[in-house]
Amino acid sequence: MKPGYDVIVIGAGSMGSAAAYHLARDGRRVLLVEQFQVGHTRGSSHGGSRIIRYTHDQVDHARLMPATFALWQQLEEESGERLLQLTGGLYLGAADNAFVAACRTALETLNFPYRLLDHQELGRTYPQFRLPAGWIGLYQEQTGILAASRAVQVMVREAVRHGAELREKTRVQSVTPAGTGVTVHLAGPQGDEVVQAEQAILAAGPWASTFLRTLLDFPIPLRVTHQQVAYFRAGRPEDFAVGQFPVFIVGEDPHFYGFPIFERPGTVKVALEQDVRTVDPDQEGTEDPAMTAELSGLIARHLPGLNAKPELVEICRYTETPNRAFIIDRHPTFPQILIAAGFSGRGFKHAIAVGRLLADLSAAAPGVYDSPFWLDEFRLSRFQASQEAAV
Ligand SMILES: Cc1cc2nc3c(=O)[nH]c(=O)nc-3n(C[C@H](O)[C@H](O)[C@H](O)COP(=O)(O)OP(=O)(O)OC[C@H]3O[C@@H](n4cnc5c(N)ncnc54)[C@H](O)[C@@H]3O)c2cc1C
Repeated sequence: MKPGYDVIVIGAGSMGSAAAYHLARDGRRVLLVEQFQVGHTRGSSHGGSRIIRYTHDQVDHARLMPATFALWQQLEEESGERLLQLTGGLYLGAADNAFVAACRTALETLNFPYRLLDHQELGRTYPQFRLPAGWIGLYQEQTGILAASRAVQVMVREAVRHGAELREKTRVQSVTPAGTGVTVHLAGPQGDEVVQAEQAILAAGPWASTFLRTLLDFPIPLRVTHQQVAYFRAGRPEDFAVGQFPVFIVGEDPHFYGFPIFERPGTVKVALEQDVRTVDPDQEGTEDPAMTAELSGLIARHLPGLNAKPELVEICRYTETPNRAFIIDRHPTFPQILIAAGFSGRGFKHAIAVGRLLADLSAAAPGVYDSPFWLDEFRLSRFQASQEAAV
């Protein structure tokens, strides 16, 4: 007998909702299961904004971006929702900064346009910043903001419009290979249930290890870390509006980044990236005052037009592999189980493409990796050979 679903997608964060969207659009029978409600704030995909950019320090990543932008634009057209705001991006650091240099090489290799600003030109063009002498800026136009929570809502809504079934407040307890398919145990508002499908896609974000520990006979060293973003009031909001102020990323240590005014009127979102504090995803996160204080110090030093005391701090999680390369692959023994995990602090922009890749892998024969979004670095076998040791 044919099982009830072609594919069960576990987790309605950015990756699971993108996979469900593409699969349902391709005509597959999809069940999308989320332990909380779509849009909840316990995982990694909530919030008003995420950076999307052509600029990457690895050519292979930058090369994927034109087609990735096109997929986001396709979603906007199909849904009638505006999700992507172009802002231009400024990548900052000392003249010999390795990140800025690598980004420049990648942009040149791919013939993507960019402009280098020396310290004087930076000061003239972006007087909102106060930067150390000798710092330079790389400006690249194809940089912008994705409306993150709304994009997840829209992908889920489009998946459902194309026939996917959504179950919220339903926790997947286990995924077990059964012949060439899978058996999935659910615990939801109506009690426990067992469902069958031909395939399962695990897109559980910070909870990925709960599945991987039992499904694989080699360890996957995933770390879940505490992250926070903060909103700072602008003295003159017009100076920080889209068009006047770009998305920016500082490639120096401490590594911080920010946005023009977007989701919260009059305030600028800035975040300091630190991955030192590991957390249990089942515990609700709380603000780390030391991290807030360090970020306030950076604001006072580098963005004097903002009030250095934040008006709001939001908590989020990264799930990271040791070298931060994503995991997107089939299970080595049970190819009917696909795994998407470890999307770190840069996954959101790729979500629509990761969803496409997962749908492509799910439609292809085991061993076939025929998708425009496939990169060899996604392979699960890198852990099998344990080249990628825990840090
Ligand atoms: C502060 C912060 C800033 C970031 N900035 C950027 C940025 O500017 N640009 C960018 O590209 N990326 C950025 N990222 C990274 C990006 O947001 C993440 O890589 C991405 O959202 C990860 O999505 P996910 O679907 O893997 O995880 P999640 O969004 O956490 O989704 C996993 C889902 O699975 C569900 N789930 C787990 N276990 C079960 C179960 N047993 N049963 C049912 N459901 C389950 C969870 O509830 C959750 O909803 C940022 C991340 C953070 C935290």
